[in-house]
Amino acid sequence: MLNEMVITDSRRALYERVRISLEQERIELRYLIDNFDRALLRSGAAGEASSDGSDQEALIERSHQHRQRLKLVLQGLQRIRDGTFGLCETCDEPIGERRLLALPTARLCITCQQETELTLSESSELQRERG
Ligand SMILES: [Zn+2]
Repeated sequence: MLNEMVITDSRRALYERVRISLEQERIELRYLIDNFDRALLRSGAAGEASSDGSDQEALIERSHQHRQRLKLVLQGLQRIRDGTFGLCETCDEPIGERRLLALPTARLCITCQQETELTLSESSELQRERG
């Protein structure tokens, strides 16, 4: 059984390293999101409705990006707790250590990721052809 795969010490050390860096990122993102929210409140309260509202839109956009990122980070931390971290969600194979270090929130192994990207670009090309 794949689930009974022995987790090596180096793998365990890697997960711990990833967990620490994800925790760190979670704290930073929360701080950034708080700041964006406060800035948004301020600009709203001050009635700084610049003619095009682009400043506020940029803030909202960046705040949204941070929230999306935070979601990935939280999911990663949850998977570490669940013991499913580091396994590809598609093929259940362990994700390469170098890939995990470079991209701790990766949910697919490099092979499945490439296949997904290929499928996505194929389907968007199909949509372009239809549209
Ligand atoms: Zn895979």
